[in-house]
This record gives sequence, C-alpha cells and structure tokens, in this order.
Amino acid sequence: MNEEPAVHRAWPPPFQQGHLASLQDGLDFINTLEYEAGKVTDELLSAEAALEWLTHHDLMHREAKDHLLQHFTDAPRESTRILAKMKRVRAAMREIVDAAVEGRAASTSDLKELNRAMRTHYVYELVPSTDGVSLDHRHQGDPVDGALARLAESIARELIQGHPERLRICENQQCRYVFADTSRTGRRKWCDMSTCGNRAKVARHRARQKTTN
Ligand SMILES: [Zn+2]
Repeated sequence: MNEEPAVHRAWPPPFQQGHLASLQDGLDFINTLEYEAGKVTDELLSAEAALEWLTHHDLMHREAKDHLLQHFTDAPRESTRILAKMKRVRAAMREIVDAAVEGRAASTSDLKELNRAMRTHYVYELVPSTDGVSLDHRHQGDPVDGALARLAESIARELIQGHPERLRICENQQCRYVFADTSRTGRRKWCDMSTCGNRAKVARHRARQKTTN
C-alpha cells in the first residue's frame, strides 16, 4: 500500500483532459520499462502493445490505432521504426528524470531527443455536436508523434513549472520505479510500501539481527 492514496485514475474524465498527458501518464510511460528484482521487463513488447498502451492512456484514438495497425500489415518495417522511436523517447525521459532526481546535469543527447519529440504540433479540431458544446474532436498530424510530444511535455512541464523536488526513484535499487512523492512530509522513499518498502524493512531487520547475534 502506498503511504498516500494514489490519485484516482478516473478523474478528471478523459474528455476534460483533452488528451493532454498528465505527469502520471509521463511517469507511467517511463515505468513501462520495469526493473523487477534486477530483471528487466518491457511492457512495450511490440508496436501493437505500444499503441495499445497509448490508447489505454487516452493519448491516441482507437480509430487512429486501428488505422496504424492496418498500415503495419503492409509495411512491417514501419512498426519496428515506430516502436524504436517510442523507446528512444522513453529512454530520454528516464535519463532526464534520473538526472533531475540525482541533482546532476542531463545529457545533451537526451535533451535533444526530448526536444525533438516536443517539436511536434498536435492540433485539435473541434467538430459540431447536437448539444452545441462539442467535446468531440479530431487530431491532425502523426498520432504517435502527437502522443509522444504530449508525454515528453508532461515531464518537461513538471521539471520547469511543477515540483521536480518531489520526483523520486524508488530506493530499492532493483526496482528504480519513478514516482511523484505526494505525501505530506515529502519523505517517501519507495514506490510501494508493501513491496519495496517492506523488502527494505526486512533487510534492515536481518542486518540488525546479524550484528546482535
Ligand atoms: Zn519500488
């Protein structure tokens, strides 16, 4: 269990978010490359899985995803290229957050990658609806680039205008999960108290027993 309840994912509703990526989306994206007990698991196993992740996080319309998947069947190399691009941006986001948390300068190549991702314009176009207020819309431009731009932006926004001092890397060296510490005291060390936090506690307990025995 976390020390503080996580923000409920259903709020704000997706249409109010207007597909802007929240900080949580950005962090979730970084954490798709998971370190579990020193073993690396990548949630973005394929281009299909990666696009599914984007639609699941309301960063890409389902129709756009279906269209891309259809396109991949004719151009399989395109799917490899898109997946590689997503992983490149993710790696840069990871490195930049790590640098901020560890209080060191981010590398120029990572910043270049993030800046390149953010350079994409994503345009919303409102479309008419019967009740006069249109919550429906369409996007222009490459949907993957648009989604990556918003994810990159969520991290950049936090580093510049948010609370970068509240960003954390789980202190369990075999986990390294990134998260925002929303606890009152701001002294959260682990991504999760019941797993990583507990592991640390058990290890400390064992070390103490060894020294007393
Ligand atoms: Zn952890």
